[in-house]
Amino acid sequence: MHEHTAPFPNALASFDYNPRTKLIFGPGAVARIGESATELGAGKVLLVTDPGIVSAGHAARVRQLLETSGMTVACYGSVEENPSTLCVEKCVEVARRASIDMIVGLGGGSSMDTAKGCNFILTNGGHMKDYWGIGKAKHPMLPLIAIPTTGGTGSECQSFALITDVQTHQKMACGDAKAAARVAILDPALTLSQPERVTACSGIDAIAHAVETAVTRKRTPLSEVFSREAFRLTFAGLPRVLKSPADLEARGWMLLGAAWGGTAIENSMLGAAHSAANPLTAHFGIAHGHAVGLMLPHIVRFNADEPSAAKVYAELARTANFAPCAESAEVGAEHLAHRLEQFMDEAHLTRSLETLGVSRTDVPRLATEAASQWTAQFNPRTVAAADFERLYMDALNR
Ligand SMILES: [Zn+2]
Repeated sequence: MHEHTAPFPNALASFDYNPRTKLIFGPGAVARIGESATELGAGKVLLVTDPGIVSAGHAARVRQLLETSGMTVACYGSVEENPSTLCVEKCVEVARRASIDMIVGLGGGSSMDTAKGCNFILTNGGHMKDYWGIGKAKHPMLPLIAIPTTGGTGSECQSFALITDVQTHQKMACGDAKAAARVAILDPALTLSQPERVTACSGIDAIAHAVETAVTRKRTPLSEVFSREAFRLTFAGLPRVLKSPADLEARGWMLLGAAWGGTAIENSMLGAAHSAANPLTAHFGIAHGHAVGLMLPHIVRFNADEPSAAKVYAELARTANFAPCAESAEVGAEHLAHRLEQFMDEAHLTRSLETLGVSRTDVPRLATEAASQWTAQFNPRTVAAADFERLYMDALNR
């Protein structure tokens, strides 16, 4: 029988919900950037983007739309993947020279994070590490418009900038309500230009955000709504965009699912798959979405020992119609872990850490770092360095 007793194990968890970001969704929605910038009183705009988006022509289009609305535009177009403090400093230089009054972040999570990082330093001074944590900015920040071009991070719906310290390689999560985008423009047509590998990695990341936020210790009845819908959309969308990259409807599902996933993160944080992934990205250069997707099935199986987490996993599997209602929570969770592995295979992303250059001797150091990641504390099951060692060992050779 389907269990109706406790579909929401954290049903009485308290929450505040105050959406800070106006969402504009629809194919062609980018055309409304001028209208949005005008509403926010912009005159001199900084456009923050990456070289791929410049060569896809999106940066020129956004610049032209803003100029047509009477604004002058300065551009920082050299955002790198996993942006560093150095990348942010260079962006701030461009912003200062142009004395801007608004910022547009156009691209994947890296562009939006760089835009937020630049906003912190431009308006509040100091260095990125001064804002590591939550609510460290004293002064008002400039309005930000976020325009994602990948269905992935959901950074457009978050108040956090993830910036890597160029010296220590620590990924710093710098969060402040003032850093959240005032407007996010979600235009599925912009995501059609993603290279196949970006579609795969960012799509897997979006699914991981849904799965991880659904079970965290901080989850609430509100975050549950976003996690579930993020899962439903990305789960249905990913196989379709992998098979038919020009499928605009499925691209829309991925983009919206990623935004809901980002909203879920903002309300319930992330879990151990992200903790395990960050050291893999820092030391072996494995793309964020690949690293997260590789570790996630192992984390799902590990967490399924915690009955309330298993129940949520099974609910997700039932929502997506691939686990029969009659089965137990444990079996439902195993269905989910197995399907997540299939997604990796369909995306042509290896599930073997050894293939990616990680060896047995690297595991203890990776495990120590994973256990010290901020996100580990939100995982539903307590996860220590010894657990991460076993999880990495399991993932070494699949
Ligand atoms: Zn992620």
